[in-house]
Amino acid sequence: MPAREGLLIPADSDIEFTRSFGTSSYEGCHMNMMGFIKRGAALLMTWDDAYIRPDLIKTKASLKCSVHAKRPPHCESATFSVTVTPLGRGDWNTIATAYRKIAERKGTAVTLATKTRRNPEVAKLLGASNAKLWTCLARRRNEDSTKDESVEVKWTFDEAAQVAEHLKNDLGMDRCLFTLGGWTEGGYDCRHPDALPANPECGGNDALASAVARIKALGYVACFHDNYQDMYRDAKSWNPDCIQKKADGSPMSGGRWLGGRAWLVCAPKTLELAQRPQNLPEVQKLFKPQAYFIDTTYAVGPQECFDPKHPLNYNDDIRWKQKLSDYSRKVFGIFGSECGREWAIPHSEFFEGLSGVSGKYFHNNIDPEKLGATVVPLFEMVYHDCEVVHGKYGYAPEAAAEYVAQHALCGRTLNYHRFDSHLYWKQPVPEVKARPGVVSVSQISSSKFQIRYRWQVEANGAGDWHVCVHFGKGPSPLFQNDHAPAKPVAGWRAGDVIEEGPFEVTIPPTGKADAVDVYVGLFRGSGGSERARLLGGGTDGRVLVGQLRLKPAIAFEKVGPLPSLGDRACFVRADNGWAEGLCPMDRFVKNTHEILGPLAAVTAHARLIKLEFLTPDRAVRRATFGSRGGRSLTTVTVNFGASNFTAQSALGGKVTLPTWGFLIESPQFVAFHATSWAGRDYDAPVLFTARMDAKHTRIFHGFGNARLNWHGRELEVRRETELK
Ligand SMILES: [Zn+2]
Repeated sequence: MPAREGLLIPADSDIEFTRSFGTSSYEGCHMNMMGFIKRGAALLMTWDDAYIRPDLIKTKASLKCSVHAKRPPHCESATFSVTVTPLGRGDWNTIATAYRKIAERKGTAVTLATKTRRNPEVAKLLGASNAKLWTCLARRRNEDSTKDESVEVKWTFDEAAQVAEHLKNDLGMDRCLFTLGGWTEGGYDCRHPDALPANPECGGNDALASAVARIKALGYVACFHDNYQDMYRDAKSWNPDCIQKKADGSPMSGGRWLGGRAWLVCAPKTLELAQRPQNLPEVQKLFKPQAYFIDTTYAVGPQECFDPKHPLNYNDDIRWKQKLSDYSRKVFGIFGSECGREWAIPHSEFFEGLSGVSGKYFHNNIDPEKLGATVVPLFEMVYHDCEVVHGKYGYAPEAAAEYVAQHALCGRTLNYHRFDSHLYWKQPVPEVKARPGVVSVSQISSSKFQIRYRWQVEANGAGDWHVCVHFGKGPSPLFQNDHAPAKPVAGWRAGDVIEEGPFEVTIPPTGKADAVDVYVGLFRGSGGSERARLLGGGTDGRVLVGQLRLKPAIAFEKVGPLPSLGDRACFVRADNGWAEGLCPMDRFVKNTHEILGPLAAVTAHARLIKLEFLTPDRAVRRATFGSRGGRSLTTVTVNFGASNFTAQSALGGKVTLPTWGFLIESPQFVAFHATSWAGRDYDAPVLFTARMDAKHTRIFHGFGNARLNWHGRELEVRRETELK
């Protein structure tokens, strides 16, 4: 199934489920295809219409697929076709190769080479990591968007430029897609579709123009985050005529975001609004970022509108979104949006969210384990050379080893979306050694519940802290239950168990959300600007404690502790290595960019041509990236399993890969996270990378023992070294 990167779902597991994978729906089919493999033979199913919806029904006895097609409301005579092509002997590789040929015929396989020819700035995205400051200005409005609930500057525009300069000058990050959110007049997710002027709280127009110039001077791609699908009541150009209408003629509401209740703009109107002189043209004139990101365009499933003035079916909606993309690309040069779909490839350069969400493979809607599935890089097997792909949302580096390993297998760089506010590397984050949890949730009414919390304290507390409880998805909460702790944190003693509540919480209308994530943290300072680091928390301090179901009944589901599989914090290590002494976020950024940046760069014009499972449980996977001529192959071997695996390397001999260990080999780049290399055994896993060109080899040492056997030489590489 081409859901985000892709799922391999075995038919012979004991697991039972029923699930729809609608075309272009949020976690449905990101490509218009499915593949089937049975007894060594492969079958490809393809279609073109956005109304096609494959359903999978898995019982203990069988796995069945049925395909549904709904008649579009504005097209009485619609016919739908699904093509099934037997491919003979083969596997997932055969299916991907066959589908690539179809993609080339239908025009979706526009390569990055072509995109770089039409705009040379695109080359700066190849091997670039994705760094995003989501909410320079975080203004929280009430439901009706009539008054502020809180206003916080997380980064002034000057500070944003300093963050970019820190990544380049202090961490040596060579390439970066650097995105600013919350630069608009109201702040992040506020008062759309009116963007200008840049908000004065962060410094206004001149400061933003100067920040963009500084980011570009680093060789980075400066990108702005904007939104044309959500419209807010307090926008200067609020206009109900633009809003999508339901079948009964009523306006379609969107989510409850920072700016209040959003209303969904009908797709042709999004283009009309973006094209107004005061929108994209003026933004380009004032600030000249090389790239633009219009949120939700590729994420939200295809829409219908029943307004007789601008009726819309799913397929129309997609065509208008393509036009919006083309227009943005014409104005700025580079365009990207959220998640990503096959139909968007010819109209954009990058996707943010296809390769992962919040440090996981999927959002809350799919749990691969509940499908008995293995996540496979099917998208990369068809389109790796056509689009720059990243994940979306913040995650905890201390738990991200699997996310990193998966991005290595995909040949993709990471998204760094969870920087602490302001100049994060200069501010030591105070730590409170306590672990929050939810004890119970009981429903009072359809929109009200009681909740109790518990803190398990492992070391004496200090400081004057407030408890924040966020309910929502992604970076901005939909609602909250912030409160003073039952006992001041300064009085917490090792071994204490602090019970809190019950608190009564009212759920505001949340649109279509069936469930929200629950985060608990400790904050202090005005606007909650300073957060404590907690046990189990991410770099933004918040701990994901579970999920709250809102429909059909209110119920809480705890996030189980991650199974103890390997060292999930391994990429934050820097013992003996380059980033030793830096803050955890910088250690993680440095290590992972050194691994994934060069890998993404050397594979940018290649397709993932072969995916192999090296063990029967599919835990060890090898991806081979190749170009058309078959020269300069890159192989990536990754161990997702619980036991060590020994890989064979031309350069490193027997290379032992621990859990989350990997081996990357290409003529220009070698990297490994392993416990043995070239005849040397290490007590603990080490990370080394080597970049080669005709004259030089640059070796980088991430962590662990610094000794390295390299082409018969014995080296000690503390941070990095260059060999001639
Ligand atoms: Zn409409």
